[in-house]
Amino acid sequence: MGLRDLIQAWPVYRQLTGDDRMGTGAAAKSRATEALRPRVRTADRVVKSVCPFCAVGCGQDVYVANDRVTQIEGDKDSPVSRGRLCPRGSSSLQLTTGPAREYRVRYRRPHGTEWEDLDLDTAMDMIADRVIAARREGWQWEVDGKRTRRTLGLASLGGATLDNEENYLIKKLFTALGAIQIENQARI
Ligand code: SF4
Repeated sequence: MGLRDLIQAWPVYRQLTGDDRMGTGAAAKSRATEALRPRVRTADRVVKSVCPFCAVGCGQDVYVANDRVTQIEGDKDSPVSRGRLCPRGSSSLQLTTGPAREYRVRYRRPHGTEWEDLDLDTAMDMIADRVIAARREGWQWEVDGKRTRRTLGLASLGGATLDNEENYLIKKLFTALGAIQIENQARI
């Protein structure tokens, strides 16, 4: 780069000779910054979604390129959040692509010191066995002579990320099993 180019690249020179007299825009911009492009520009499509972190339910625009999520930003069309996301919602890209995301079922048996990998069918069978056993052990046909037909062996505490439909189904399922302790974090 010659002396002339060096001088012309100097922000003060550009501020004094160009249109950006306040030095808050083009004059202060380096070549590296000028070459930057937003990563959303390379997205093939934008999918509307809802932040999974809390009950506010802020709207999200999920940017996808080559079938991979590349960026998640606030959805300005959302009447709930109007384009905004809090720090947790802004970091939800890591939920989908972060290296800490687990794709296997991890299991540490009672008194075990190591985690084991289980296939999903095995894990589901183990959960079903435990549900049946806990329901049976905590079953009460009656209390103080009054018919109850319930179990105290099961309880459900839902997270705020569950939506209305999921909460409806969870309530149906646990009530059908005879549980009476059914609650959600959003109500506590
Ligand atoms: S962006 Fe923040 S406030 Fe909005 S739903 Fe997600 S966690 Fe809740």
